[in-house]
Amino acid sequence: MYLKRLEMSGFKSFADRTELEFVPGVTAVVGPNGSGKSNVTDGIRWVLGEQSAKSLRGNKMEDVIFAGSDTRKPVGYCEVSMTFDNSERRLPVDYEEVTVTRRVYRSGESEYFLNKQSCRLKDIHELFMDTGIGKDAYSMIGQGKIDEILSSKSEDRRAIFEEAAGIVKYKARKKEAEKK
Ligand code: ATP
Ligand code: MG
Repeated sequence: MYLKRLEMSGFKSFADRTELEFVPGVTAVVGPNGSGKSNVTDGIRWVLGEQSAKSLRGNKMEDVIFAGSDTRKPVGYCEVSMTFDNSERRLPVDYEEVTVTRRVYRSGESEYFLNKQSCRLKDIHELFMDTGIGKDAYSMIGQGKIDEILSSKSEDRRAIFEEAAGIVKYKARKKEAEKK
């Protein structure tokens, strides 16, 4: 499984629809300061359900929507889609490609989609559980993350191993069952 494509529209500095295609292996994103490299990783975390505006380097969620420039008007909504190659069926759905989409309007409330079908954020969380993919999962190693892992409480460190071992979904189901 690998990240195949990232499409952003109206997200942060990407006013126009921008599509990035990835191939298996290593991809480096390079560019001058302020050109939008970090906005790409913000887009990835945002589509996976990031709710904290601060961790997306803004003050409020609306700050992820293109705010306009000297030559362009602000836009009314933004959308990010991330597509994974699922030919090995690592994600438990019978599709060659899996696309997750998030859209938000200035009025608030996010909408989520899985392969263009409207869904809940919970469905996206469940789909990626135990794969290492997620806004806080180990496939996203942000600045300072290694220090955080080394100095964190043993229970927090344990959570990383549980995700890698693939038992998070069972623990989540157990918790859910206990609530009922
Ligand atoms: P560096 O090399 O300094 O880390 P970078 O390539 O990571 O830079 P980013 O932080 O991704 O750059 O991009 C910052 C740019 O994105 C700034 O110019 C900022 O004005 C722009 N930007 C962020 N949010 C918005 C928004 N909502 N609307 C328009 N532009 C935005
Ligand atoms: Mg940066």
